Amino acid sequence: MTDTAAEHIAVTNFRRYLRVKTVHPEPDYVGAEALLREFGRDLGLEAQVHNVVPGKPIVILTWRGTHGKSLKSLVLNSHIDVVPVFREFWTQDPFAANKVNGRIYARGAQDMKCVGIQYLEAIRVLKLQRGYMPKRDIHVMFVPDEEIGGHDGMEKFIHTPEWTALNAGLVLDEGLGNPENAYKVYHGERAPWWIKVSVKGETGHGSQFIENTPGPKLQRVMAKFLAFRDEQEAQLKAGVHADGRPFSLGDVTTVNLTMLSGGVQWNVIPNQLDMGFDIRISPRMPLAKFRALLDAWCASEEGVSYEFIQLTPCNFVTPLDNNPWWHALQATAKARGVALDPTVFPAATDSRYVRRARVPALGISPMRNTPVLLHCHDEYLDESMFLEGLEFYTALLPRLDEVVDPTAEDPKLWTLEC
Ligand SMILES: [Zn+2]
Repeated sequence: MTDTAAEHIAVTNFRRYLRVKTVHPEPDYVGAEALLREFGRDLGLEAQVHNVVPGKPIVILTWRGTHGKSLKSLVLNSHIDVVPVFREFWTQDPFAANKVNGRIYARGAQDMKCVGIQYLEAIRVLKLQRGYMPKRDIHVMFVPDEEIGGHDGMEKFIHTPEWTALNAGLVLDEGLGNPENAYKVYHGERAPWWIKVSVKGETGHGSQFIENTPGPKLQRVMAKFLAFRDEQEAQLKAGVHADGRPFSLGDVTTVNLTMLSGGVQWNVIPNQLDMGFDIRISPRMPLAKFRALLDAWCASEEGVSYEFIQLTPCNFVTPLDNNPWWHALQATAKARGVALDPTVFPAATDSRYVRRARVPALGISPMRNTPVLLHCHDEYLDESMFLEGLEFYTALLPRLDEVVDPTAEDPKLWTLEC
């Protein structure tokens, strides 16, 4: 007997998808597109493929709703690509999708081929087994290159007429697994700023007490950055939301000194020293307010300036208050006895492009009591948790279908700029 005998078809399809080597730096997008088209045909879905950049397909499998374009659509997004592996650290072949004691081992098992297949298999249950007919169009979208920034995938796609034609009301995208007994839901991300601070001053011989040299000034300015860092770290440890949940990384701003440079010779005081910071600004900290802090820190010493190596000029979040999509998600979780933990993503996903296009996006990968193994050796997902996630989407899609479209009158309901 093989280990696929009597296996749930969703699990079999999940494992087939995991075996397509969509791994950077040369992801097999051709193989993935062929398999996704096959999955779409099996479910009677319309397929469209857009190569916004040649060789990097965006595959959209559509379940048409009875009310067509009069309602906003649901876009169920996942990325096709996966990150590289260090084969010597894996106990299983990362592209064999072996099932060992119920654990399915493969690169992409958590991040995020599980979710892409759960969307499709939920449609199988609703469409083919229950005869459900959605009112709104449901687009299952598979995008390339998320793991290398999404620049040739989602970032470009949201500027095309094909994206506009989707008429998206809500995009569901990836989240993270959670070792605790709740699904994490991400409704915003932190804004990355990389800045270089240059400190200029008097130069001279290394044996003297020269006034106004760069070193002591750099030390005092650095202290201001690092004091703010300490303050944020303390908030992470002690902060609680109004509903009693403790703060997580996405709720605070991180500031890390990552670069230091300067000097020409051991006995010469340099006229300039530079330091670089990687800063990730939480939506709880308005960007303008943080900019004012930066300005004040650098203005506190003469001859100090800064420049942006990377600037995220605006950050957008999907509000949860009064958001009918979020309420549908909450109702689904409540009916299934699953807790939700809404929070801000600590790093970046394709959702940032969607929110930038003023479309609400919620990130959820329904995995609880599961170690977070994305990008790790021996990435796996328990078959039972995979199937629980499938049931979750099967319950969620009809509830999202029932949502009364929010009106355009209150744009704050859709996207908040911070
Ligand atoms: Zn991912």
